[in-house]
Amino acid sequence: MTYHSHLDKTISADFGDALLASLAPDGGLWMPDSLPFYTPMQTAELAAMNFWECAAELAEHFTDNAIEKDKLRALCKDAYNFDVPLKTLKGANLDVAMAESNDEYILELFHGPTLAFKDFAARFMGRSASELMKSSGQTRTILVATSGDTGGAVGDAFLGQDGIKVVILYPEGGVSKVQEQQLCTIGDVNSNVSAVSLQGSFDDCQQLVKDAFANQELAKKHNLMSANSINVGRVIPQSFYYFWTSLQIKAAHPGVPIVYSIPSGNLGNLTGGVIAKKMGAPIDRFVVGNNVNDPFVDYLKDGEYIPRASVPTLSNAMDIGRPNNFPRILDLMDKDFEAVSSLCWGASFSDQETERHLRRVFAETGYIMCPHTAVGHLAMNEFSKDVERPFIKVTVATAHPAKFADSVERIIGQEVPLPEALSKAMQKEKRVTKLEPNLSALSDYLDTL
Ligand SMILES: *Cc1c(COP(=O)(O)O)cnc(C)c1O
Repeated sequence: MTYHSHLDKTISADFGDALLASLAPDGGLWMPDSLPFYTPMQTAELAAMNFWECAAELAEHFTDNAIEKDKLRALCKDAYNFDVPLKTLKGANLDVAMAESNDEYILELFHGPTLAFKDFAARFMGRSASELMKSSGQTRTILVATSGDTGGAVGDAFLGQDGIKVVILYPEGGVSKVQEQQLCTIGDVNSNVSAVSLQGSFDDCQQLVKDAFANQELAKKHNLMSANSINVGRVIPQSFYYFWTSLQIKAAHPGVPIVYSIPSGNLGNLTGGVIAKKMGAPIDRFVVGNNVNDPFVDYLKDGEYIPRASVPTLSNAMDIGRPNNFPRILDLMDKDFEAVSSLCWGASFSDQETERHLRRVFAETGYIMCPHTAVGHLAMNEFSKDVERPFIKVTVATAHPAKFADSVERIIGQEVPLPEALSKAMQKEKRVTKLEPNLSALSDYLDTL
């Protein structure tokens, strides 16, 4: 199997080139030429596996012999060494006996090392890129702009990987306190991951990364690589958890339709879900929750897509006015608006509605959601109002609430306990370089690494 540019099917690449080049030469997004389809008999086998084993089976199709099967299994086992729990709102783990009477789950995707769902894709991508580079003998510098979660996940995923340096650019004062501490404490002094706090906005960070890639001399000198969700390697692994968890739910609720609600920004997570469904995952529909940055929810109403400048909100990882992966959704659905709008249902919410909901869920159940998850859960509630037949609700929890302790504690009026990974990071000394947002400053800095 190979990959093609979404703009031109005749431009193709194998897995390694698609992963390392990030974008096709015509500026298009890489798309897999084909997706496997697993029959119900085959999915029963996958359902019986551990998550990492199921991931390795699915990944085999996408990596297409670039990584040997044994290595791929070892890679998935190592990448996915954490839980993928389905919880009820009372916080209990999925238990098949009690599941029969339960029609609502929270899929917690924040048990990886950086406590956000981005670990799933970043850890797979980091390990595959490193594996591919071993055979090529190349070294690379990954430049990643972050508004919070991506930088941590990518830095952690590539930490200690041979032949790779990671430079994380974040806007000074533009990420939460916990996120900043996390970004600046990845590894030790000798670590291959460095954090740069840029005297500018997130848009400045993104622009600087684009400028660096556009400067051929600089890009070549440092063998620059991108690790944001335009990279197909950041999207494919996000299909694995939809596939595996929907099979677990189906086993507990045979014959009942399953609907996932996804708090969305760049639509990478949704793209993973749509890929899983196309591979045969028993998922009926997707609910998409947006904050006020809602070009996709608007599109679902009438088929008109109007990208716009983003505005800051409480759920900052979803402050995206031009979702990177919108073209991928269209491509997967053959550019058919009817097909997209019957598969996806969307709603958007203000910060005020999100706060009220987060507070109410906590008061009623004791469950603490991060602001992004609260948007997804609100969307699911809204969707449910018009549905009469029984169905299983699964809200995707994208980050641990402690990552947004500043706002969550203010909203619920109570402390959010820090998980161990975070409390360790909070005690470490920050390593960070301050830079002005211009290319010559960045270029000088890269020379020192
Ligand atoms: C990145 C992120 C999102 C948005 O995911 P997309 O794939 O960009 O749609 C939602 N919640 C959290 C916590 C995130 O870090």
